[in-house]
Amino acid sequence: MRVGTPGDETADGGPDRPVATRSVPRRIPASRATVEVLPRRPAPPRPPRPRREPAFPSHPALTRTSAVVTALLFGMITFVSAPDSPFRTATPPPPPVAPAATGMAAVPQVVTEVRRLGTAGARTIALTFDDGPDPTWTPKILDVLARNGAVATFCMVGTQVERHPELVAQVTGAGMRLCSHSRTHDESLATRPEPAMVAEITDIRDRTAGVPGADVRYFRAPGGFWSPAMLGDAASRDLQPLGWSIDPRDWNRPGADAVVTTVQKNAHDGAIVLLHDGGGNRAQTVAALERLLPWLTSQGYTYVFP
Ligand SMILES: [Zn+2]
Repeated sequence: MRVGTPGDETADGGPDRPVATRSVPRRIPASRATVEVLPRRPAPPRPPRPRREPAFPSHPALTRTSAVVTALLFGMITFVSAPDSPFRTATPPPPPVAPAATGMAAVPQVVTEVRRLGTAGARTIALTFDDGPDPTWTPKILDVLARNGAVATFCMVGTQVERHPELVAQVTGAGMRLCSHSRTHDESLATRPEPAMVAEITDIRDRTAGVPGADVRYFRAPGGFWSPAMLGDAASRDLQPLGWSIDPRDWNRPGADAVVTTVQKNAHDGAIVLLHDGGGNRAQTVAALERLLPWLTSQGYTYVFP
């Protein structure tokens, strides 16, 4: 399976990343998604979303029309999201929209910082753990969190929940929140037909529906690769697109020291930290947490959900 493979959750993609072609919607790293995805203009009635696979064969004239519309849409998405797109400067993104009463923003955005809720001087930080649950590492991480009075959000993968369903109740019973991290951790999810994409996005909510405390409120794209369609599909199902602001790359096992140092150097009020409880040996992550959590507490941080 692909969970935890090198390159997971990289914000900038890696040198070994497949290069996106113009024939598919460009995948957008979360770090850029907020500025690139936002301009959803008031538009005429929305034409069908571009997909590689037509839903059914049609009349040649319709096919030609669809091809033109599809080409235009692909071109528009690629153009808007291209790093050198003039939209980046000519059309500044609107300011972040405050959460509505429902908790959802009016325009789908990837949340990378905890929204301030008041209390001047207070420092908050949100820990997130991806790619689990894992029978070895998830309980160890829950234990460290509990000993330090911390809460966190667990971005679970459907296939992992399928293997270890009992761990879901263990996580929610410890007062943690759940986030959907797709069913199969398909990092090319942005290119899939919409029904498949929606099924992946909603899998964790459906799969954990009967578990006490399992109120799935977030979706995090596998690898952090978003597309406009994915943002819309998640947000329209009351799943807040969830990113991060600090990535110590613990999935790559750089050593507990490096994980600790990266978080300490970048810690700030409202930060969302990306860590992993699944996808491989997480001993370094556990060791780092043993040192980080007391340090964060000593710095005045309280642990919150995104
Ligand atoms: Zn992941």
